[in-house]
Amino acid sequence: MKPISKVSFTMHGIGVSSGIAIGHAHLVSHALIEVAHYQVPKTLITQEIERFEQAIQTVKQDLEIVRQQLPERAPAELSAFLNTHLMILADHSLSDAPKAIIISEQCNAEWALKQKMDELVTQFDKIDDEYLRERKHDVVQVVERIIKVLLGHPREVALKEASSPTILVAHDLSPADAIQFKQHKFGAFITDVGGATSHTAILARSLNIPSIVALQKARDLVRDGELIIVDGHQGVVIVNPDKSTLEEYKLRQEQWELEQQKLKRLKLNKAITLDGTAIELHANIEVPEDVAQVRAAGATGIGLYRTEFLFMNRQEMPDEEEQFIAYRKVAEDMKGLPVTIRTLDLGADKEMNPDTARSCTNPALGLRAIRLCLSEPQIFHTQLRAILRASHYGNIKILIPMLSSVTELRQSIVLLERAKQSLRTQKIDFKEDIEIGGMIEIPAAALCAEAFAKELDFLSIGTNDLIQYSLAIDRTDDAVSHLYNPLHPAILQLIEMTIRAGAKLGKPVSICGEMAGDAKLTRLLLGLGLRQFSMHPSNILTVKRQILQSDLAKINPGARKILGTQDIDRIEPLVQKLNLQ
Ligand code: PEP
Ligand code: MG
Repeated sequence: MKPISKVSFTMHGIGVSSGIAIGHAHLVSHALIEVAHYQVPKTLITQEIERFEQAIQTVKQDLEIVRQQLPERAPAELSAFLNTHLMILADHSLSDAPKAIIISEQCNAEWALKQKMDELVTQFDKIDDEYLRERKHDVVQVVERIIKVLLGHPREVALKEASSPTILVAHDLSPADAIQFKQHKFGAFITDVGGATSHTAILARSLNIPSIVALQKARDLVRDGELIIVDGHQGVVIVNPDKSTLEEYKLRQEQWELEQQKLKRLKLNKAITLDGTAIELHANIEVPEDVAQVRAAGATGIGLYRTEFLFMNRQEMPDEEEQFIAYRKVAEDMKGLPVTIRTLDLGADKEMNPDTARSCTNPALGLRAIRLCLSEPQIFHTQLRAILRASHYGNIKILIPMLSSVTELRQSIVLLERAKQSLRTQKIDFKEDIEIGGMIEIPAAALCAEAFAKELDFLSIGTNDLIQYSLAIDRTDDAVSHLYNPLHPAILQLIEMTIRAGAKLGKPVSICGEMAGDAKLTRLLLGLGLRQFSMHPSNILTVKRQILQSDLAKINPGARKILGTQDIDRIEPLVQKLNLQ
């Protein structure tokens, strides 16, 4: 019989830690799914309880071994995670309460434990604080460990050293599992679940293993031993790649690793051009946990904190306290460096809850971002109060998205003043002279940039939307993505106009769209007068290297020439030439 050839396929998820790994799949069992329910005869109840107690002891020993074996340079979070798991394990609700269920329901230990876990998870779900609510995953992970022992699964603590990189494919992974896997030189991990704030994602970032979460069905689709490529940067998993794809990724992997080593040496270097011009390199973040990566990359501030991520995938809006805690954490963790908090940019591709989103014909042109905030002043007021309160704890600035006219700006400032007044009345501290900036991401705003610069403290160009709105290309639609061209002469002119308006009025201008993080465009942007960039932390060192090798006097004429070029097809070769100078 002819062997069945392996089917190659690709999956997309959220890349939470960059890098490329190539290896064979190791499926991590999902014990909770396998829990059976059966009756235990009265005469065997004592034995069942002993079996349960024994499993608790075994897990305790396993976790303690992992903690003792932590490498010296392991991130501090790891030992904190293990301590949390040991505490959960020791808690009466997990170590004792299931015994009462075994007795009262005469059921097996796994089932009793699962009942207790479900009850605890329901209680966690009712907690307002998102961080605490998320900790239910720790409870689930600890229970999963106990159940694996009860079911007699091989424990990962005894895992053998893998001969080639192994890709862990799991429904979810506990921190304790993750550290063991790291010690055994696993190459990467991919999971079905996990959001950007999950422990798994936090660990992935701190451990620097390429990883992708939220793949939905990876655990079901991938088979043990299959060859997998994990591209953590793109959030792409390729299962059973063909020969040429494999060769291509091997090459990319080597290049990536070599480059990372070299780049790390630049972390402490100041971003200064060869002629001595200082450039600010800031980072974009989505959640407070991203700050660790920002600091590791040596960014000198946060140029864009996309606060809408705190509002997504939930039914209820976060209240003022929840928002305040998140913003204050970022401000404190940045230790006095600037933190630019963008007010809510919900709508279009960033709906709070896609299932309940209001339908409209052109969401990108609809009630989104500042328009939504001005039409729902209570939501805006709550956020402004939270940001203002957090401003007492660090160097916070406010950034308003999607401004199309100064009228919206003035209305926003009236509401900001109202929020300030409410805090004054309550004698709550905040930074009175907090700086306020505006996103220039609608062509109309770029054309009127001077008017905005007059009334604002700084401008930030959102090239992602500026390109979408100028070229009439839906940035989320694959069918027109080939037309999404940052080098379109109209885009370059709008950027330059905005930078010039800022310079004329003495107001700093930054770019926080994806263009800022593309090192192929760094020289061109420097030549157009840009002195502040904000990007994903993983791009900072690459852009810094380009800055360190650039001489403004040499770049400027080439950049001006590009700016004066109307023929779109001539621009790309000119940019390449600029990068070779
Ligand atoms: C932009 O539009 O360039 C930007 C930075 O904002 P977002 O990508 O969040 O729309
Ligand atoms: Mg935008």
